[in-house]
Amino acid sequence: MPEPTTAKPLAPGMILGPDGKPCRACTAFRNWKPAIATREQARSNASATPSGAMTAIAATSTSAFLQNKRANCPPDSEELGRATWTFLHTTAAYYPEKPTPTQRANMLTLLRSLPTLYPCSHCADDFGEDIKVHPPDVSGRASLSRWLCDRHNEVNKKLGKESFDCAKTDERWKDGPAD
Ligand code: FAD
Repeated sequence: MPEPTTAKPLAPGMILGPDGKPCRACTAFRNWKPAIATREQARSNASATPSGAMTAIAATSTSAFLQNKRANCPPDSEELGRATWTFLHTTAAYYPEKPTPTQRANMLTLLRSLPTLYPCSHCADDFGEDIKVHPPDVSGRASLSRWLCDRHNEVNKKLGKESFDCAKTDERWKDGPAD
């Protein structure tokens, strides 16, 4: 008779994806690193004499492990978010003032695909609801940048972050600060 399987406990704060498995792209790294830290600490402790000095070494190597791990990890929800906003705001900043019908259609396809393709599923769902209420304005560079800034600010508000001043969108994503 097969052994009964026991499900691994989920790290507190880890969010499950639509497949019911832990979703790294839906969860901030600080919420999945405790599980890694605990596992690495246990490994270090198992091979060390439990003296104060060895415990300190184990703690240091855990922290070094986490820093290394962070550099090579799949993206968490924050890294993915920053990279995606960077791509979207920069793409909007370089969008033509007078886009052709094809350019408008391509931009609409890109933006409308996010609610189905963006890997952080709860982010994607909320974004999908938001763009139903506020459909993308792809009529030109300035209006698209403004629309995107407003959408980003919706997410900022939801996360309790400060609102970004949309008058500074070009400075942030295209021109840089004036000298
Ligand atoms: P980010 O919010 O990533 O911003 C990056 C930079 O953009 C900032 O440093 C600032 O210079 C600039 N910026 C900030 N606001 C604006 C603005 N309004 N207009 C122009 N530039 C701006 N995370 C969640 O936890 N839950 C969610 O539901 C969620 N939904 C998301 C939906 C989408 C479509 C995307 C792309 C990301 C989502 N995220 C979500 C991720 C989240 O928005 C952040 O990217 C992440 O928390 C990292 O935040 P950050 O403070 O580093 O800066």
